Amino acid sequence: MVQAIIRHMQSKQIAIIGGGPAGLMAAEVLSLSGHAVTVYDAMPTVSRKFLLAGKSGLNITHSEEYTSFSSRFGASSDRLRPALDAFTPNDVRIWAAELGTETFTGSSGRVFPNVMKASPLLRAWLRRLESQGVVLKTRHRWIGFAGSGLVFQTPDGEKIIQCDAAVLALGGASWPKLGSDATWVAGLKDKGVAISPLRPANCGFDVDWDDLFKQRFAGEPVKSVTATSDAGTFPGEFVISQNGIEGSLVYAHAASLRDQLEHDGTAIMTVDLAPGRTIDRLAKDLARQDSKTSFSNRLRKAAGLEGVKAALVRRFGTARDLSNAEGLARLIKALPLAVLRPRPIEEAISSAGGVSWNAIDANYMLKAIPGTFVAGEMLDWEAPTGGYLLTACFATGRAAARGFEAWLNR
Ligand SMILES: Cc1cc2nc3c(=O)[nH]c(=O)nc-3n(C[C@H](O)[C@H](O)[C@H](O)COP(=O)(O)OP(=O)(O)OC[C@H]3O[C@@H](n4cnc5c(N)ncnc54)[C@H](O)[C@@H]3O)c2cc1C
Repeated sequence: MVQAIIRHMQSKQIAIIGGGPAGLMAAEVLSLSGHAVTVYDAMPTVSRKFLLAGKSGLNITHSEEYTSFSSRFGASSDRLRPALDAFTPNDVRIWAAELGTETFTGSSGRVFPNVMKASPLLRAWLRRLESQGVVLKTRHRWIGFAGSGLVFQTPDGEKIIQCDAAVLALGGASWPKLGSDATWVAGLKDKGVAISPLRPANCGFDVDWDDLFKQRFAGEPVKSVTATSDAGTFPGEFVISQNGIEGSLVYAHAASLRDQLEHDGTAIMTVDLAPGRTIDRLAKDLARQDSKTSFSNRLRKAAGLEGVKAALVRRFGTARDLSNAEGLARLIKALPLAVLRPRPIEEAISSAGGVSWNAIDANYMLKAIPGTFVAGEMLDWEAPTGGYLLTACFATGRAAARGFEAWLNR
């Protein structure tokens, strides 16, 4: 009885703004601790980006060795590590299984729900939150602060809501039509919160295709190649788009190509179109071809290249490369695919930039606005695709919730 009274006295009114994976995770932890939690979201339903991620299977986390896993967040890896240590990829799988979603590890080490979609997990999660007393208020767009209150635009007009603490989990700037449109930037900047510019991450790039190339090859996958940039060399595949290139292999290099474009104005993704063969072997096989055989046939017979791969060789080779076996072999092994610019942030899988690490303390609380915590993609970190994004959103949602409790008990 006494404990129940103490718990009631310690129970706080908490507003979570943003009902994506980070916000819902903060709501789960805080409601379990007995706080009165309301999740506000601008959209008519929550977690639209999470559901969209489910359309491509919902890569929920990654099975690689944890030290490598936790280093995938670039310059932010050290800052994120305590949150990741407290909610590891294995914890993500256990959490999903407790909600009825068993997972499996794909051949690349990526982890997916057996059902390859997000909706059953989200439904079970929302049921759990409801049973823990979490209230959901959709069509509530947060537009800023009024004294100690939070101001929302709602279908019934503007409302000011008072609470003991707030967790902002408003997402980044990619796919704004799903809700995360980064309109929060101006409001936080006004309060003196440092924010790094939001930039596309895991994005496609424009390439200067000619009309004929686009007409013939837009939509074609370029399979079983490796690509190299400052990020390293990775095997995989990418897709030719109307404007350039996109797909998982491009996303793996996207941060490096983007940064290089910003720094130097040019960037090249070097593609090995025949990873199984050496330059010497290719040069010998190409040299052996009858000089009367057409260029296409020589490429096909000696290097196994045709269709889009052969077209890429023509597109990026100089007359000199194409005219001798040695030069052609070198080109096939290191095709310099020059990219012009990242595709707009609206098309990216995720965004880099956001609330600067210096703007929050170890509890994920904004130094400029005590009692307001931040989680998820709106923080200044980025990671490749592979389940890293969702894992870090879950982990920072939990960290912000635990941060609130630490602040409360300070
Ligand atoms: C096509 C696609 C596929 C993806 N696939 C994967 C994948 O397989 N694996 C992976 O790890 N990651 C994937 N991601 C990325 C992942 O979905 C995001 O990183 C993650 O959803 C971010 O979570 P979040 O909670 O920080 O923000 P969000 O999920 O963006 O949620 C933010 C919420 O805040 C709300 N909101 C925003 N502004 C306001 C406001 N002013 N007032 C009130 N509410 C507001 C939004 O409506 C939204 O519901 C994918 C992304 C895309 C676009």
